[in-house]
Amino acid sequence: MREYRLFIGGEFVDSASGRTFDVVTPRDGSHIAHVAEAGAEDVHRAVAAARKAADHGPWPTMSQPERASRIMRLYELLMAEQSELSDLEAQDTGQTIRVSNLFGVPYGNEFWRFTAELYPKVELIEPVPAYGFPTPAWEFTLLEPHGVVGGITPWNVPYIENSWFLAPALATGNTVVLKPSPETPLTAMETARIAAESDLFPPGVLNVVPGGVEPGQTLVEDPGVDMIHFTGSTETGKRIMQLASGTLKKITLELGGKSPNILLDDADLDMAIPGSLWAVYLHSGQICQAGTRLFVPASLYDEVVARLVEATEGMTLGDPMDYGSDLGPLLNRRQLETVERYVQLGLDEGAKLLTGGQRVTEGVPEGGYYFEPTIFGEVDNGMKIAQEEIFGPVLAVIRYDSVDDAIRMANESIYGLAGAVWSRDVNRAVNVARRLKTGTIWVNDFHLIGPHAPFGGYKQSGIGREHGIWGLRENLQTKYVRVSQEATRDQKFWFQVLGL
Ligand code: NAD
Repeated sequence: MREYRLFIGGEFVDSASGRTFDVVTPRDGSHIAHVAEAGAEDVHRAVAAARKAADHGPWPTMSQPERASRIMRLYELLMAEQSELSDLEAQDTGQTIRVSNLFGVPYGNEFWRFTAELYPKVELIEPVPAYGFPTPAWEFTLLEPHGVVGGITPWNVPYIENSWFLAPALATGNTVVLKPSPETPLTAMETARIAAESDLFPPGVLNVVPGGVEPGQTLVEDPGVDMIHFTGSTETGKRIMQLASGTLKKITLELGGKSPNILLDDADLDMAIPGSLWAVYLHSGQICQAGTRLFVPASLYDEVVARLVEATEGMTLGDPMDYGSDLGPLLNRRQLETVERYVQLGLDEGAKLLTGGQRVTEGVPEGGYYFEPTIFGEVDNGMKIAQEEIFGPVLAVIRYDSVDDAIRMANESIYGLAGAVWSRDVNRAVNVARRLKTGTIWVNDFHLIGPHAPFGGYKQSGIGREHGIWGLRENLQTKYVRVSQEATRDQKFWFQVLGL
């Protein structure tokens, strides 16, 4: 059994209360780790350590190349343990070993590498164009770190989410307190261990305090924190916004989604059909941008639905640690019950269950939380299964008559995280992309979000952007400096204003 303690001020420590919690693998429900549980007192301690490192430490004042080279060195250390980290991530989250090995961990690592390369190229001092004041000045902006940034991350793909938060926040000179989800904190704790062993980060620069709602709320409310980066559900995001208002913190929110996926009538179905399953079934649908609403033209509906069902029934649901599994389990019993509830709701609302819809106990490890990949046809976009985030392997197929109808229904959602359009005619697809109200649109693709490109939500899917220059800028604030060039006191026009 693995044991982990909180990482505060450069040391691994027990929680003040002495409380711990067990981490269970979705694979078979067995305990795989014992983790110290952060409470309010621990979070205050972590914030104080981060505050000290932000206000007095060398980290924020280090040169850009120096900090970037430390981030790059950490990337190399994470790469050296990539295989063990992938294994642990699969056990902790239930994502298949293929997902964690080919996507989750290497992709998360890419954000460290890319950030280390991009950050030194950011101009931290830039001239401000002259304005028409009567006397001249030398004017420029300085980009500066916020100070202490708190990160709160969800359980679904924690290695990716933690890298998305940590790499840009640290590179830009902030100190951080990361509160990973209590459901899946293990690779965050391993990242802390690797960072601690490396000696790259002065004490207090990186702090990790796993736990649930109490440490999360404390982190958002603590006056020692300057900014909060939150990734999680829209409902919790709204709460974070309220809590942050007490100290008027800057926040970025990366929230839920119900992404539309539109097949146009000239789509290459050999690509679009498997593409639509990739869109919805990655990590058994437990992905924020999952393409859960598939819009199909009436003329192709029967063919598309038949091929979707056939391909789905050919997928292998099984042990996430088995390389043969296409789909793994859901996170836990609660998630399994949520998905079951939505399947019942879909039936009650009059949608047609085309395949799946059941828990699976045969041919999978005993005690795990397995659910069949599920497709509903004849879905009306107003149904709850088309409007609410299920966070499971459930696809809602919606028939449309005209492209205008498809776009209207795609936009009829409180969410606006991502979406896709499939067509052989790229101009036609781009015209549809322009009319969709989401932060990301793929044409003939899904899920690819590079470290170079902005990611974030429209509407209730979020505030702010991650990645690339956009993500770095969120972690920096702009200071304006005006150096007066007037040669003498007489040239100061404000002497006349007050008659001084
Ligand atoms: P969640 O909102 O329940 O929890 C997210 C994090 O917030 C966890 O660390 C949790 O402990 C913490 N938390 C919960 N209540 C809190 C409170 N009142 N104050 C402070 N912290 C609190 O989300 P989840 O179930 O862990 O994750 C799934 C959700 O995350 C889905 O809605 C998914 O769409 C979303 N998500 C979004 C993105 C994105 O980039 N937009 C990425 C991944 C997941």
